[in-house]
Order: sequence, then structure tokens, then C-alpha cells
Amino acid sequence: MTLEEIKNDEQSYMMQAYGRFDAALVSGKGATAVDSDGKEYIDFTSGIGVNCLGYCDEGWTKAVSEQAATLQHISNLYYSPLQTEVSKKLCALSGMNRVFLCNSGAEANECAIKIARKYSFDKYGSGRQKIVTLVNSFHGRTVTTLAATGQDVFHNFFFPFTEGFVYANANDTESLKECIDDEVCAVFIELIQGEGGVMPLEQSFVDEAVRICKEKDILLLIDEVQTGISRTGSFYCYQSYGIKPDIVTSAKGIAGGLPMGACLCGEKAENVIVPGTHGTTFGGNPIACAAALEVLSRVAEPEFLRQVNEKGDYIRAELNKIGNVKEVRGKGMMIGIVTEKDNAKEIAKKCLENGLLILTAKNLLRLLPPLTITYDEINKGLSILKNTMEA
Ligand SMILES: *Cc1c(COP(=O)(O)O)cnc(C)c1O
Repeated sequence: MTLEEIKNDEQSYMMQAYGRFDAALVSGKGATAVDSDGKEYIDFTSGIGVNCLGYCDEGWTKAVSEQAATLQHISNLYYSPLQTEVSKKLCALSGMNRVFLCNSGAEANECAIKIARKYSFDKYGSGRQKIVTLVNSFHGRTVTTLAATGQDVFHNFFFPFTEGFVYANANDTESLKECIDDEVCAVFIELIQGEGGVMPLEQSFVDEAVRICKEKDILLLIDEVQTGISRTGSFYCYQSYGIKPDIVTSAKGIAGGLPMGACLCGEKAENVIVPGTHGTTFGGNPIACAAALEVLSRVAEPEFLRQVNEKGDYIRAELNKIGNVKEVRGKGMMIGIVTEKDNAKEIAKKCLENGLLILTAKNLLRLLPPLTITYDEINKGLSILKNTMEA
């Protein structure tokens, strides 16, 4: 099929939920994607932080295809050794105690919100249900996670939204304190706001949030859906802040390209979920678990993490040499670029024409390359970006 045919069918048969780039991607290898005309692109997106091992990694493909030929799905009414292995590994890597497996970031966040509210209900009874999130955050597209998202543009059309969310300004301790009252059960934050424009939280703000939460028995929830799975140079980003949250949510890169989410909890909330209070049909699917096991066995190795940091530092240093680059933000291989000319969307479009897939977030360019990208691929991509930015 030609791109025109695909686009026509998309317009005829699909809900028009997305503003898409002008390419249909049909295959890939490593950090190179191929479109329906056979044109190749260097991929600085990894499907928005999902394909952490790149396209069709050998070990990942083998794990997935072997599992597909062994057992593709069972109900959660039965035990699964793959689920227990994934959960055990996640606990070992995170320092958390228990895991609930689901299918997406929004679902992991829904689970975290339910746990926070039930923790408080079990212990203090009703009336302690408010959750503080941050202005400019992003937590998902369900009615509740939209309410948790601290951006007015998302609070439209779908009324009534789930009640009980209040928004504090990021990196503003006074604003956070003003939001905390006797009805608050949780503080829910991204350590680097991804969709919000690659905005890292300051250590002092995070430390103060930890202190307040501890003092008042408020649960600290960290949304690691984008920052997790070694994206920012530590397995979870909170580990680089030297803190331990009560609940962590994970998705995107966790299974390297199959739908999976996870909600992890520490000691405080480990017994909140009991039979009948939460569940899912697909969550913990064996093929997704097999994929996750491959990802988890590789991305948290010290040498792998060292390389993520080294590549991230290299990319940031090279970006700072490019014209039209005003500021480079982020950590590890989660990188945001503020452009002098404030023309990120236009640059991203032109990069596609020139053979580079790149993301935007707010008015920034955003890079989430596969963690396994080679220096050759990095240099090719940076050269396309430079030519596009300086044209
Ligand atoms: C992508 C993202 C989500 C939503 O994940 P889905 O899998 O699209 O539901 C939630 N939180 C953050 C921080 C994200 O980046």
C-alpha cells in the first residue's frame, strides 16, 4: 500500500485521535525505522520511550516468539511463573515490596490512586481522599488520570472528572504546603515532567515532599512511566534522588515494545489490595512478561546503565554545539531541547523529511532514543538534526 492509500483509509476508518507525522512505519532494526516507501529513518523516539532495546532486538524477538509459541495468555485466576519472575525482579531492582501488573501507564496510575485512597480509608476512615499532583504534570488519558494531570487543557469536554485532585506548583515548597490539609492521602509526582516539557524537579523540593509525606502519613507516589526502566540513567529515576517512594508506577519501556504497566508498592501499602478490590484481564500477559524479563535482565546491568549515562552526556554535549539550540534539559537519555527560534514542531516535521524521527513536548524538541542506540546511529541522527536546525 502507498502512503496515500494508508492515509485515506486512516481518515475513513479510524477515529481521528492523532495528529500524525507524514510517514507510515512498517519495519525496523536497532535505531533505524523503515517506512512504506522503503525510506530509512534514524529513530530518536523509540515509540515514545517504549522500544528501549530498539526495533527487533535479537534477544527480545527470541523471548517473545518463543513465548508466543508456548502459551500466549492465561487468566489471572491461575498462577503464572512469568508474572512472579517479573515481579520478583522488579522488587529486587526497585527496593519495593509488591507489584500489580497491568497494561499501560494510565492503568498503573489508576492502580496507584486506588491504593492510596484505600490505604487511607483502611487506616483513617472516610474523608481523607485528596491527592496532590503538580501543575504541568501528565498522568494519562482515563477520566481519573486526566483529573490527576495538572494542565487545564486536559480538563475539558468529559465532565464530570474524578474529584479530589489539587495541584501544587512544581519546585515550589510553599505551594505544596498550601495544598496539604487533613483530607490529603497522597502526593503524586513525576520527577522529570515528560509531556510537560522535560522539566526536572529540584532535589530540595523532592526532599521536602518526602519529609512532609512521612510526617503526615501521606503516601508519596512517583509516576516513573516515562522516566523509569533506565531511561534517565538509573533503573528508576527516584534512585538518583536518593529517596524511596511508597508507590511507583511504570510502563512505556518496561516490556520493550509490548503493552505492559506495573504499579509497585513499598511496605506501607503492601497489603492494601486484597481479592476483589482490583484486577485486569490482560495484565501480566505471558508474552508481555517474557518480553519484560528480557528487558529487565539487561537494562539494569551496571555496564548498561553506564552506557546510557555516557551516551546521554555525549548527545547533550553535541546538541550544545548546534545552532538554534538555546537550552538542553533532562537526564540520561531523556532529553529536551529549547530552540532559539521557538520552532520545535516545524523542526520535527523537517527532520522527518530529512530522515530523523524526533518528538516534541510542549514547545521543546524531545529525544527518547532506544537505550541500545549505537554511536554511529547517534552521530547520523545528530548530523540530520544539525543540518535541519541550522538550515
Ligand atoms: C505516557 C505517560 C503516561 C500514560 O501512559 P499510557 O501507557 O499512555 O497510558 C502516564 N504518565 C507519564 C509520566 C507518561 O509519560
